[in-house]
Amino acid sequence: MRFNTASGPASASEKNDIHFGKLVKGLPVPIFTCNKKGILTFYNEAAARLWGDEPRTGKDTWHHAWQLFYPGGQTMPPENSPVMKALKEPEPGPAELIVKGRDGRIRHLQVYPALIAGAEHEEATASFTLIDVSGQKSGEEKQAMLSAIVESSDDAIISKDLNGMIMSWNKGAQKIFGYREEEVLGKHISILIPEALQDEEERIISSIRAGKRIDHFQTMRLHKEGYEIPISLTISPIKDPSGKITGASKIARDVSERLHATKMIEQTARRLELLYDIGRTISEKLDVQAVLQRVTDATTHITGAAYGAFFYNTVNEQGESFMLYTLSGANRSDFEKLGMPRNTEVFHPTFSGEGIVRSDDITQDSRYGHNPPYFGKPEGHLPVVSYLAVPVVSVSGEVIGGLFLGHPQPGIFSEEHEDIVSSIASQAAAALDNSRLFEELKSVSAKKDEFIALASHELKTPLTSIKGYLQILNRSNQEGISKLFIDKLINQVEKLNVLITDLLDVSKIEAGKLRFHCETFDLRQLLRDNLDTFHHTVQSHRIVYDDKGDAVWINADRQRIEQVIINLVTNAIKYSPHADKIYVSLQDSEGRAALAVRDEGIGLNEDQQKKIFTRFYRAEGTNDIPGLGLGLYLSKEIIDRHHGHLTVSSIPGKGSVFQFTLPLAAAPAE
Ligand code: ADP
Repeated sequence: MRFNTASGPASASEKNDIHFGKLVKGLPVPIFTCNKKGILTFYNEAAARLWGDEPRTGKDTWHHAWQLFYPGGQTMPPENSPVMKALKEPEPGPAELIVKGRDGRIRHLQVYPALIAGAEHEEATASFTLIDVSGQKSGEEKQAMLSAIVESSDDAIISKDLNGMIMSWNKGAQKIFGYREEEVLGKHISILIPEALQDEEERIISSIRAGKRIDHFQTMRLHKEGYEIPISLTISPIKDPSGKITGASKIARDVSERLHATKMIEQTARRLELLYDIGRTISEKLDVQAVLQRVTDATTHITGAAYGAFFYNTVNEQGESFMLYTLSGANRSDFEKLGMPRNTEVFHPTFSGEGIVRSDDITQDSRYGHNPPYFGKPEGHLPVVSYLAVPVVSVSGEVIGGLFLGHPQPGIFSEEHEDIVSSIASQAAAALDNSRLFEELKSVSAKKDEFIALASHELKTPLTSIKGYLQILNRSNQEGISKLFIDKLINQVEKLNVLITDLLDVSKIEAGKLRFHCETFDLRQLLRDNLDTFHHTVQSHRIVYDDKGDAVWINADRQRIEQVIINLVTNAIKYSPHADKIYVSLQDSEGRAALAVRDEGIGLNEDQQKKIFTRFYRAEGTNDIPGLGLGLYLSKEIIDRHHGHLTVSSIPGKGSVFQFTLPLAAAPAE
């Protein structure tokens, strides 16, 4: 058969051939013919476009521009191609193959062979029409991929029409809601919606009709078994090719685990905060009652208990070993009717520190109700069914008390509650240990202060009269040895008096009762007067003082400031036994008076300097020098309370300087 090889005048059939040949050439569908060896004998323009070149007829094969593959993707030898096979078969059918062009482009082709009738010669045995189905193929592949995704998804993917009828149902939906596909197809979506949320569907459908999508909507849906599942829903409209909304696709994710995890995190965070808060407040509080109340309130609150009670392990006046201390959620009167909890079988494990008792229903417990006189819950008792009791045991192993929680409903307290209450209980135990020690200490220290105050007061009274009698004796013209002794006695009584006064002052400071009587006076004059007295009484040391300068006015308690000066000068003398001079100076500058006493005595190291202002402190090695370690403590207290500073600088073995500064006052009007 020839389409276009005519020369000379054409016959009618030849004209037809030419016409037909032109028609085929210009057809948009690729067509070629080849001989039995696969060598091209004819091809049209569409075929040339498909190959991307113009092969030589009679020379090139039909597949010259291509690599061939089976539809499954394996390489196809040309002799096995549908073209070559068709050439051998009497009635060849259409077949499929994949070709890869020189440009790397892959096409899915369908080959439609047609044997050419009467063409027995080698030239052209069959024509082949090629249909490029690549577009359709990729659509199918996409479709298959999408179906696979939908099927393998853990989320429920459901589609429904605008009446709410279920049209498709994947495996995820079966897993989440329990229904198999065949059970739900064609059923109304409301089978998944809990009774109380039925109107939700209406709202969803109207949004969908309006073309709106619903994203991550948190709601509840029903499982086949009837229980509710928290889910997150995303619903989008389904449109047909013309854009009309025909239904909705719905993706539902079971969020129970996520919600549970979030809830757990929130709960843990809340608990940690609470624990931290309790820990902080109870460790700050040194008052037993406050600690117990805080712990009782916190544990009652955290466990959701209706009543909480803390029984403190102490012996009351009747000799009963447990005393009700704090309550939460119940009135004290509810308990008072009952007296103290007794060491019954139920309470025993708690009060003996044996362990925690947790019961969903204590009235069913075998230990319950065996004890007279009540045999069970006494009349008027709070209706306790759920029960949690935790012993509070100190670090030393002593049972300090018990924490009891109750609720009228069964099954309230969980293992988690048990854990949390026991951790609060151990925090409480530590705090209670501290507060008990503190209370004991407080009472010991209060007793001591009381004793010192009383003793010094009692000692001072006879001492004052001894001093009075001695002074009378002294004035009655005593001479010689008697006069010497009386002077010595007066001197000793004076020392004793100073000691007792110091002790009394300390107890006044402790009780917050040290009072000042302030006036404006000249500190220089006060210093001068005091140094004069020292000049007359001290033989061992000379006090070097350059008495120049104006008056230094301060507003202070004159006697107390005098007490400080005497203390500093006395110390300088006492603690420089091998020196013979003391240096005193007074200056005023920058609104402050500064009085310094320097000695060349034993000095103090840094550690001692830090401690000398605390009460009863005496530096090592000063035992043979008399003193109580109170003078500097009192001096510092006096100077501090006058808004001044008392400081020391010292070099061991070389000497010390004690200096105090005080704010200056305006000179009094003349
Ligand atoms: P007291 O002199 O009665 O022991 P103080 O409170 O006046 O009590 O002094 C406390 C301690 O400080 C003294 O015991 C002594 O160790 C030390 N101290 C005080 N003044 C001096 C000083 N000038 N030089 C060295 N040590 C001193």
